[in-house]
Amino acid sequence: MILPKFDYKKAEDIAAAIALYERSKGRACYLAGGTDLIPLLKLRLSEPSAMIDLKGIPQLKTISRKGNSLVIGPNVTLFELKNHETVKDYFPALYESLDATSCETLQMRGTIGGNILQNTRCLLYNKSLDWRTARGFCYKMGGETCNVVPNAAACFSNYCSDNALSLLSLSASVKLAGPEGERKIKLEKLFSKDGRNPFTLKPGEILTEFHIPFKRSTGAYEKLRVRNAIDYPLLGVAVSMIGGKGKVCVGGIGPAPLVYDLKDLSGAGLKEVAQQARQEARPVSNTTLSAGYRKKMVNVLTQRAIKRALKEGK
Ligand SMILES: Cc1cc2nc3c(=O)[nH]c(=O)nc-3n(C[C@H](O)[C@H](O)[C@H](O)COP(=O)(O)OP(=O)(O)OC[C@H]3O[C@@H](n4cnc5c(N)ncnc54)[C@H](O)[C@@H]3O)c2cc1C
Repeated sequence: MILPKFDYKKAEDIAAAIALYERSKGRACYLAGGTDLIPLLKLRLSEPSAMIDLKGIPQLKTISRKGNSLVIGPNVTLFELKNHETVKDYFPALYESLDATSCETLQMRGTIGGNILQNTRCLLYNKSLDWRTARGFCYKMGGETCNVVPNAAACFSNYCSDNALSLLSLSASVKLAGPEGERKIKLEKLFSKDGRNPFTLKPGEILTEFHIPFKRSTGAYEKLRVRNAIDYPLLGVAVSMIGGKGKVCVGGIGPAPLVYDLKDLSGAGLKEVAQQARQEARPVSNTTLSAGYRKKMVNVLTQRAIKRALKEGK
């Protein structure tokens, strides 16, 4: 498929990238590895006037220890992060989610920033313009209906980042810089819960750093997919445990991840969290597996991930 026309700009630093964005009058978008963005352009689901390439900004490509945090630049590739000396040892849930992301070819191109800011997906949305025109535009395409759930008032597209779940389980936060200045927020606050526009980023904001508390954790990541070689998660569950307390994150089943605290580590306690996640998960028939099966699997994978995280802690 052919790309639409756009201007290509390469920024040397963060201030230059924001200035380029301001000059575009809000019609530009940022480019990292392009593995999420380029297919969207080809399908005419995004038509920016300019692409501002962030890959030449050295500051966005480092991993360092600052105070009590591991600070990760958004342009670090998934492969680099997976193989960083601290990740497997300190953050096993993150190591496993990185390893489970698509395939190594994609991990070498895709960045952690782009992974977290990837758009939500739906079987009836990620389609060609001809296909979508024949079917009729849904909420996410600017229309007035949901093509999956008739008469629904919301968009049920799925947020499919594997690594957002493990980063949430590790209580990560993010730094953002934009035309209105800098701010730091908990990763949880980045999600709007609206499938049409899934993030709370302000226009022109760049994600500049991830911060993870530098504490050794035990953890696990469980992923449901059809083809282990490449597929997006049709459900993902990350668990991280530090000092007898844990966080459980469930994703791939709606526009934003679900996050739970795990305080009671008894068998009854973990069953309760798994049951709660199952009740609150609202998958619909917009992937290659049925909604009913994915809902049942929330319970199964949540218990499995918690049990593995606890076992590794012993
Ligand atoms: C075949 C295939 C399989 C895939 N499988 C998986 C999978 O199993 N699991 C999974 O999690 N993902 C999967 N993906 C999704 C995606 O490709 C990866 O998550 C990848 O990490 C995205 O990173 P990128 O650098 O290519 O992002 P890009 O495509 O460059 O960017 C994605 C979005 O983030 C924005 N962005 C990027 N960096 C910044 C920044 N610093 N500040 C502000 N905005 C920014 C861009 O504007 C864009 O909107 C898959 C993609 C493909 C094509």
